[in-house]
Parts: sequence; structure tokens; C-alpha cells
Amino acid sequence: MQEKGTISIHTENIFPIIKKFLYSDNEIFLRELVSNAVDATQKVKRLASLGQYNKDLGNLKVSISFDEAKKTITVSDNGIGMTGEEIKKYINQIAFSGATEFMEKFKEAKDANEIIGRFGLGFYSAFMVADKVEIETLSYQDGAEPVRWICDGSTEFEISEGTRTHRGTDVILYINPESEEFLNQYKLQEILDKYCKFLPVPIMFGTKTEQEPDGEDAEGKPKYKSVEVDNIINNTSPIWTKAPGELSDEDYLNFYKELYPLSEDPLFWIHLNVDYPFNLTGVLYFPKVKNDFDLQRNKIKLFSRQVFITDEVKDIVPEFLMLLHGVIDSPDIPLNVSRSFLQADSNVKKINSYITKKVADKLAELFRKDRKSYEEKWNDIGLFVKYGMISEEKFYEKAKDFALLTNTKNEYYTLEEYREKVKETQTDKDGNCVYLYTNDPAKQDSFIQAANKKGYDVLLMNSPIDNHFINQLEHKLEKTSLKRVDADVIDKLITKEENLTHELTEEEASKIKQIFEKAISKPNMTVEVEGLHAEALPVTITMDEFMRRMKDMARMGGGAMNFYGSLPDNYKVAINGNHKLVGRILNTENEETQTQLAKQAFDLALLSQGMLTGADLTEFVNRSVSLI
Ligand code: ADP
Repeated sequence: MQEKGTISIHTENIFPIIKKFLYSDNEIFLRELVSNAVDATQKVKRLASLGQYNKDLGNLKVSISFDEAKKTITVSDNGIGMTGEEIKKYINQIAFSGATEFMEKFKEAKDANEIIGRFGLGFYSAFMVADKVEIETLSYQDGAEPVRWICDGSTEFEISEGTRTHRGTDVILYINPESEEFLNQYKLQEILDKYCKFLPVPIMFGTKTEQEPDGEDAEGKPKYKSVEVDNIINNTSPIWTKAPGELSDEDYLNFYKELYPLSEDPLFWIHLNVDYPFNLTGVLYFPKVKNDFDLQRNKIKLFSRQVFITDEVKDIVPEFLMLLHGVIDSPDIPLNVSRSFLQADSNVKKINSYITKKVADKLAELFRKDRKSYEEKWNDIGLFVKYGMISEEKFYEKAKDFALLTNTKNEYYTLEEYREKVKETQTDKDGNCVYLYTNDPAKQDSFIQAANKKGYDVLLMNSPIDNHFINQLEHKLEKTSLKRVDADVIDKLITKEENLTHELTEEEASKIKQIFEKAISKPNMTVEVEGLHAEALPVTITMDEFMRRMKDMARMGGGAMNFYGSLPDNYKVAINGNHKLVGRILNTENEETQTQLAKQAFDLALLSQGMLTGADLTEFVNRSVSLI
């Protein structure tokens, strides 16, 4: 029996185009062929379970081998195999209706995945790396004859009698000269590790040596000999395919190590398991957050029926959870996904909100069950929660009950608890509740102490995302504003009914202002005389909350904000008109001494805020020495 024919596509020769176009992604040929082989074994297993195949299934498996001298790579399976008719039907009829349509779509397609996915060209991806492809196959059907199919990359193929004696299929690729890098143990291992690590049937690649019992030695002790055995490279039942009830914490931690061998243990995990309205399983881990965010991205692997697809899960996982680790497996996402597909797909959107909900539920549960350990983890998870609250309305609604605020005393409060705590003391005369915060407790210590002395609480807001979180809180919480603790002198941070005035005459006030203006002689510093409590510091330097926020935002890069970015840092130098020192300066006759005292008081203010550096610091030290 021998038959020649033409592959049914009505164009001259698409293989060179496929080859060229798909070149950058060409390693996926192995994923496609191994997936086909796995499917073939699954099909025969299913037939057996349905009673439609009654012979011995044997150990279902897929083997990959290569021959450097012959320049071949072979993918073998003991699956259902194909009859000659089936080859003609499945292999020769490339699954698209015509060349015109193909070329049309081809132009739009952005990558190899898209082409392969749209046209069911999985098998043909072999031609990205091979000049010639051979199939040797024997169908499971009673009385089936072995068949060989050969195609040299033109539209011509040849079918003849094959040589296989057992059920299954070998696909033999004659690797082209440009693709010889694939004829390499490490290269193949790397690709298999990437795509095939969790396939549901054993994947054999290479050999390993094992010790086998070999009788007894003269003294009657057991002897062993080394034998080469097939090397299984995959884990056929990774934990996401199991029910959560079957798994222990150790199983989850071990799997994490398997995925990310060098990482620290995760904080906790979420087992995803849904079958309606879409199918999805997976395990997501909350990692310990490292400083460098970007290094940690793209750590979630997307699978489709245990075949690795991609680790770019941008559209499936909400943006704020991109730093999570783990796996997601959904047969509803086709093997050959492309960006544009994911964005348009409605399942993907549902998956996205399902994941958001699951994560929120898990966090709520952790919070409820063991608040103390939740608080301990807050430093690590707070970033996700805040990011989620800023970027997803639905998540905010859930998270507002388990998001925590931390203060400088290391106490944790929910939003509601905090409101209760501060509303009495920190509500201003207009009924607005003012939350005070610091982003640098060391630098702002004098302000924090002053605030505490007044009975105010100070929140710690020093994570990279807190600027945005603060805006979000103000937006969401009623009649609430947040102020950095150094945004104004303490008595003005939260304006109360009491009228603070200084006891200076107008003349004295303008005199003291002049003295300080002369002593400071710095641009961007505006001197004002304020009526503060007598025991407050004589001089305080503040930057207006609004101005500072605008500048922070400009720094983080916002087009229209650049205006603010270009402004110099403007500070207010508040002189405490009620402080003893002011009276002393005014009563000093000697102008030189007045200036010295003013300078000293100003420098002390700078010093207490970590703003005194360089030549100014040196001058301060020298002046202090001469004063003592
Ligand atoms: P797809 O897998 O998307 O249908 P392919 O081009 O990869 O497209 O394969 C076409 C068909 O060829 C498969 O659906 C299957 O019926 C058959 N086939 C491919 N590889 C094998 C194999 N190893 N064993 C049995 N049948 C196979």
C-alpha cells in the first residue's frame, strides 16, 4: 500500500510562512506535540472506562527522545493511535476553510500562539523546527494496520504501511539546520520543565540510574546492581488537581518549594476550586514581600488541563494581585491564548472577579479567626490590601472591614475602630475628623511627641503605596481628612474653637518677624508669628499638606502635576509668640545677639526635623560651642 496526496490547503505552500512567522516562539512545537500525545493517552483511557476498549491499557506514558547523529527528535505515546483514514482526516485537512481566509487572519495575528490557536495548527508547529516530519502510528481499533505518514514540509505527503507493533504514535521530527539547538539534553529538559512539568501522564525523558537487588554476596548480604531506568520528569497529580480536604499545610508548602525552589515560605495560600459558570482550579500563595516589586511579578503560572501556557496572567488575575505566586488551571482558557483573546473573553473577566472575591474572603477569614497572627502578617499583606482597595471598588467594600491602620505605638485598628478611637479628640471645629500620620517617625519625632502630648494619635503611613491610600481614605470616609503631623504647628493641625493668640503687640510681632527674616535669609521660607502654647518649641518648620501632596504626586510622575513639581519646596517658619525666648530676643539691645539667638532657635528647629546638614550644620555646631 502506498498513496500520495496533497494536503488540503489551497495555497502554494504555507509551511515556509508558518516557519518564518513563528520563528520566535518555536520552542512551543514540543508543547504542542506532547499535548497531542497526552490527549491520545487520555482518549484511550476514556474509551477503556466506557467499556469501548477492552485490551490492556498498559502504563500510559509519553516519551521524548532525540538522536544527535540522525538529527531527530521523537515524541512517542501509547495512546489511541490513528488509522490511515484518521490521518487523512485529522492531519491532512488543516483546519481552516481556505487560503484566502488564512492569509487574511494571518495578517492580523500577533504571535505564533494566535495562529496555532485559530487554525488548529498544533501538529504543524513541528514544521517550525523540522524539514521533514514522520508519523508512525497504530490505532487501538481491532484489526487496525500500522501506518506511516511522511511530509517534507511541502504540501505533498506520503502514506504507506507503517512499522509500529503496539498501539500508539511516534512523531519523528527531522530537525532543520537552523533549529539544531534543540538537539540538546539541557535545552529539551528546559522546555519540558517549562511546559510539561505537571502533565497528567508520566513524561519520560532521558534515563537515570537506580539500584536494583542483585542476589546475595558470599556473606549472605543483599547485593545491588545499577540499572538505567526511564526518567519521569513530571508530577502527574499536582496539588491543585486534588481536593483541599486531602491536603495538609506541608503539601502546600512543598508544592511552593517545587514551584519556586529558592523562595522563603509563603504567608498563606488560597485554594481555588470552581466549576460553574467556568472551570478553574489553582492555588495562590501570598509571598513574603521583598523590596523589589518587579522581580516578583509574573510568578503565577497559567495552565490549561495541566499544560503550562504562560506566566503572563495580566488579564486573568487582577492587577493588585499580580505579586501573588502560584498556579491557575482552567480548561476554559484555550492552550493557544493570545493577548487579544484574553482581553475580549468574558470568562476571563469572570475569573478575574472570582479571584478577587476569593482573596477577600480568605483575608476576612484570617482576620476573624486569629486577629493576632493577622496583625503580625499585616506588614506583608497590607500592601496588597491597600492596593486592592485603591484599584477595585468591589474589593474596597469587602476589605474595609479587615484593612488595618497602624499607629506609631505599633497598635492596629480597623477603620471603624480607629474612627471610634480618635473622633473625640481629633474632630475639628467644623466637625471634620482629622487623622494625623507620619511617613518618617524618626525625622518627625518632635511633631509626633507634640501631637501625643496633646492627646492626638499618629498613624504610620510609610509604605510605598500610602500616598494613594491616604487619598482613597479621604475619598471614602465621611468628613475625614488626613494630615501629615508636620503639616502645621500642632495647635493648628486640628483647628479647635479656642482662639490661640500671642501676647505680643503688633509692633513686637513685626519686629520679631524682621529679626528672624534677617537671621534666616533663605528663599522658600516664610516667617510667621503664631500664638502657640508657651511650652511648645520656639520655632517650628512646616510644609503645607496640600502643597506637599502635590509635589509628591508630581514626583511620582503625573503630567499636569509637573507644574507643582517645578515649584521649590516652600516652608513656613512658625515663631511661637508665647515662648519665653521671643521676649528675651526682643529685650536684647544688641542686634548681633538677637540674630545669633534667632539663628540658634531656627537651627534647632531644622535639627529636630533632620533638615540641618552640610555647612549649616557646621555653622550651628561652631555657634553652639561659642555660646556655651
Ligand atoms: P488539535 O490538537 O488542536 O486538534 P492538531 O493539529 O494538534 O490540532 O492535531 C490534529 C488532530 O490529529 C488531533 O485532534 C488528533 O485527532 C490527531 N492527533 C495528533 N497527534 C496525535 C497523536 N499523538 N495520537 C493520536 N492522534 C493524534
